[in-house]
Amino acid sequence: MGTSGFGFVRTARRGTARRIIVLGRQGSGKGTQCDALARRLAVRHVSAGDALRRAVRTGSPIGSAVEAIMEAGELVDDNLVLEAIWDHIGDEAPSGFVLDGFPRTVEQAKLLDDRLGTGGIDLAIRLAVPVEEVVSRLSRRRVCTVCGLDHPGAEPGATCDRCGNQVAPRADDNPTAIRARLALYDRNETALTSWLSRHTDLISVDGDSTPEAVAGRMWAAVKSHPSALVPVNSHAHATGSRFADVAVGLSAG
Ligand SMILES: [Zn+2]
Repeated sequence: MGTSGFGFVRTARRGTARRIIVLGRQGSGKGTQCDALARRLAVRHVSAGDALRRAVRTGSPIGSAVEAIMEAGELVDDNLVLEAIWDHIGDEAPSGFVLDGFPRTVEQAKLLDDRLGTGGIDLAIRLAVPVEEVVSRLSRRRVCTVCGLDHPGAEPGATCDRCGNQVAPRADDNPTAIRARLALYDRNETALTSWLSRHTDLISVDGDSTPEAVAGRMWAAVKSHPSALVPVNSHAHATGSRFADVAVGLSAG
């Protein structure tokens, strides 16, 4: 990969913890927590699932390729998923992002790390929620049929908070299918956390609580990183306090 355009910024941002990935089982509340964390850090939140859906919806070249693969019933290649994500964070990767849903495997983590170049991933946060709790949450969840946003506990006939389309249970959200997905996820995560613990800082956060309480723990985890609040490049005039005292309204979604 080339380094043009990034060299200076990478040097400037060395040692900061602003390129954050968040791991967690389906149903762990990653999306909500990543939204809140990204707002507090004033960086972009990208979910791999959202990035893919958006690419398909907008009919971009990446989206067309993804759609063709999905229509053929095949798995979307890791490189293609990363391209879809990069469409949303590429410009801002030097100043930071909060990413969830990718990487889920060691191979994906290596791809992302390579693409990020010098410094790689600054911090990985593992949002830990017990299996029984996520099975219970997923059995009750309703998702937007268009943009995929989770709406826990939505009533029948509800519409999406984000795009206004219909909200419905997912066909594969039955307990048997959920447990099979979780088992696969856990197998990959064990190898992934082992790799991450050797290549970046990895912090586990207890996610078995209210969204507000978990958000507080996530923030504490980020703050505990030595230079988590050091702003980078264009924000260089400000000091860490710029981010430390930001009050954030948390969405309960
Ligand atoms: Zn929607």
